[in-house]
Amino acid sequence: MKKILLLVFLLSYVFGFQAQIDKAPKIVVGIVVDQMCYDYLYRFEHLYTSGGFNRLLVKGTNCRNTQYNYVPTYTAPGHASIYTGTTPANHGIVGNDWYVRDLHKTVTSVSDERYQTVGSTSGGQAAPMNLLTYTITDQLKLASPKSKVISLSIKDRSAILPGGHLSDGSYWFDYQSGDFVTSTFYKDALPEWVERFNAKFDPVKDLRPWRLLLPESTYLMTDASPYEVVLTGKTAATFPYDFPAMIAAGASATSLFTISPQANEVLTDFAIQALEQEDLGQDQFTDFLCLSYSTPDIAGHAFGPYSRELEDMYARLDRELQRLFASLETRYGKDGFILFLTADHAVVPVPEMLVKMKMPGGYFFMHDHLQVLRDDFIMKYNADLLEHETNQNIYLDLKKIDSLHLDIDEVAEFAANELRQWPEVKTVLTRTQLRSGSASTDYWGELLRNGYDAQRSGELIFLLQPGYLAKDHDEPKAHQGTSHGSAFNYDTHVPLLWYGKGIPQGLSLYDPIQITDISATLVHLLNLQRPGSMTGKPILPLLQPKK
Ligand SMILES: [Zn+2]
Repeated sequence: MKKILLLVFLLSYVFGFQAQIDKAPKIVVGIVVDQMCYDYLYRFEHLYTSGGFNRLLVKGTNCRNTQYNYVPTYTAPGHASIYTGTTPANHGIVGNDWYVRDLHKTVTSVSDERYQTVGSTSGGQAAPMNLLTYTITDQLKLASPKSKVISLSIKDRSAILPGGHLSDGSYWFDYQSGDFVTSTFYKDALPEWVERFNAKFDPVKDLRPWRLLLPESTYLMTDASPYEVVLTGKTAATFPYDFPAMIAAGASATSLFTISPQANEVLTDFAIQALEQEDLGQDQFTDFLCLSYSTPDIAGHAFGPYSRELEDMYARLDRELQRLFASLETRYGKDGFILFLTADHAVVPVPEMLVKMKMPGGYFFMHDHLQVLRDDFIMKYNADLLEHETNQNIYLDLKKIDSLHLDIDEVAEFAANELRQWPEVKTVLTRTQLRSGSASTDYWGELLRNGYDAQRSGELIFLLQPGYLAKDHDEPKAHQGTSHGSAFNYDTHVPLLWYGKGIPQGLSLYDPIQITDISATLVHLLNLQRPGSMTGKPILPLLQPKK
């Protein structure tokens, strides 16, 4: 009897201990699809396999009402918010770029003159130091230094911001060399496996033509449309895209590479190589792979969300995801990893298309409007008090205002009242309103406040009406292609899918979820301290104990 009790005790000890170890996934894989609208999960579903997006939809959890909770909805703030679990008001990434008064110039979200590019002579100077708080990946490294964080993308900001400050390797594509590079912020030389990977692919020699993946009758979107950008070396925005011929006609090979679905293939190859070469997920310390597909955004800007190019882009991306998921399952088993897939923002339909369809929308030509504002300033104050505009932030000339002994807040209010008279402008908030919190009484004001940083934002921020895009000048090219950045649902409603260890299967959640909730959920899936200034809330149905 004693022997049996001892055996039971030993077995429970062994299995109890095993259960402890099993709590942590071997690896977390975070996938961002740049510019993916929520409805692409359904609108392009007829082109998907069972192993890509559908694998997550059928066997994972689908957060169907996930929204960005700030403006502006651009790439750098998007990636920063996903990985810090808070908004630009706290992480400081208020745009892909912003104006720095002391320098009299705009800087990018990842500019840092203290560091140099490693792997190219392109002279890029990049680091994550503009981030004012920690990422979930930083928090993992703090808790467990043996955990590895690797972050990969085509765009620098989309690799640098997710990987955080303590990344073991953040790599992005360099337009000059056509190679994946890093920064002296992380290391002084590329790892040998990255060098080998770079040596295998040359965008100039290896870029293939882009043809439709599936029979033409499969596609729902029309090919020839007047709303698409016609690329250099082409006479119409139609298939096929003979990239080698376009390069011969003078187009940039690396630019064409980044708009080609082949870039998604190369990035997937790079990710699978990283899993293997960095020994990710091979010990009890959870690793983290951040992967951001930039090409859907680059093509999305040129062709718009209702183009055949985008439809084919997603048909092909689905196959890349299928390949990646298969590799993860083979390597770690379904219960060895946790994966999430989301987007850094979505996109507005091409406004010219909306105009032609008699839908609300159009263009706001910034140069002309700013000239009106300058004239208004001169009439009222006898001086041009406008210093700069970027991301619909107006930066006033504070030195001039000071030297004229004017009150900044009064000047800002005067400018706001001028802007409010323009029919394309929906909302204008001044720094007083943004700082005092009075703006949070309405929904749009709250989104503006969540995106406002007192040092980096302007004295006024304004929102255009739905369907409107700001462009510099009215010219034929301004009416082709599209963009994002607004507070409206076409830009803020994005997919969020979870899959893997402990994630409920086939569950759809309809409650509103904010983009900042992703990392707030990972905190509990990984038993971490909440990082820095995180404001997101955990998604509770993902954390319920399994029966
Ligand atoms: Zn983006």
